[in-house]
Amino acid sequence: MAQAKIRLYLDQPLAAGQPLHLSQAQAQYLFAVMRLGLGDKLLVFNGQQGEWLAEVAEAAKRGGVLSPIAQTAPQQDPPDLWLLFAPIKKARTDFIVEKATELGAARIVPVQTDFTNSERIRQDRLQAHAVEAAEQCGGTFVPEVANLVPLSRLLDGWNPARRILWADESRLGVAATLADLAPGPWAVLVGPEGGFSAAERARLAALGFVTPVSLGPRILRADTAACAALTLWQAALGDWR
Ligand code: SAM
Repeated sequence: MAQAKIRLYLDQPLAAGQPLHLSQAQAQYLFAVMRLGLGDKLLVFNGQQGEWLAEVAEAAKRGGVLSPIAQTAPQQDPPDLWLLFAPIKKARTDFIVEKATELGAARIVPVQTDFTNSERIRQDRLQAHAVEAAEQCGGTFVPEVANLVPLSRLLDGWNPARRILWADESRLGVAATLADLAPGPWAVLVGPEGGFSAAERARLAALGFVTPVSLGPRILRADTAACAALTLWQAALGDWR
């Protein structure tokens, strides 16, 4: 019998004995790729009700049914931290979504800045990356990946109660002092390969809810910067303390 090492995200309510119906892709993954069969166990989660042990109750090529047995871990939501990032090349954008999920971002918002490299994203594909990352890292929460939104429009409607930690490449080498940051909802903002334009810099600098931060004395690639900024925030205010 297979051990319960496989973790699967299912967008369905979880309760003991409540049948979980598999899509064709999920059945293909479990039964053809992972070679699970009737009675085999796996772990499932739906992003809201923790993690559950479930067993295969029906297995077919085009579908199947899982039966939850018992909860194995409670729901654990990340802190209220969003990542705002300017999409870069495809593989690196995928990397950012994957790492932001692992590092504990609650929401991921791709933003179009003046120098954003790509004008389009596949939101569904990025959301699938977030699901996969949550399955791999043992998390019970899947961050929503929003559609691409222009930074200027996002700032127009921004709720100032959510502060923004702005990774500001012009502050190279300035000490990153996060000790004084107030707790509460936050977002981390990281720019594209070309950095922020002069107009964006001026606007961000004038907003009272924006705190610029340095990520050290070297210019980081945008994907590295996203990981570094999330890590700094998590260590100062998040669930790593
Ligand atoms: N082209 C820009 C330049 O030469 O100044 C660098 C842009 S950098 C590749 C991409 C983004 O990562 C920046 O917009 C910023 O948000 C963040 N970043 C990279 N290094 C940083 C640092 N040392 N401090 C703060 N932010 C940084």
